[in-house]
Amino acid sequence: MKAIPSRPMPGQPESITAISCPDCPGVLAVSADDTRLRFRCRLGRVYSLKELLAAKEQRIEDNTPTPLWDHVDLVLPLDAIAPTLIALATGKSLGSDGAPAAAAQSTP
Ligand SMILES: [Zn+2]
Repeated sequence: MKAIPSRPMPGQPESITAISCPDCPGVLAVSADDTRLRFRCRLGRVYSLKELLAAKEQRIEDNTPTPLWDHVDLVLPLDAIAPTLIALATGKSLGSDGAPAAAAQSTP
């Protein structure tokens, strides 16, 4: 299936495309004037080709999961405090620096 079924020509009626509207669940119709394409959704939103591409790009950006680096920023501090949290949760004592105290060596 082509995104635009046939080449839009000036003066011809709109053609339904296989392109979804970036701002609603509808599909876009396309028409042309002498210099550019015009996309219109069923709700009446109108886009030039440049506006449509920008809106699609923005939608991708808005729906992309948080960058990996943000997760790394979260994991690093959690990784650093995890031993302390585990010590607190299990009732082990903490050293003067707040880190879990070294386990006592038991001698047989
Ligand atoms: Zn729309």
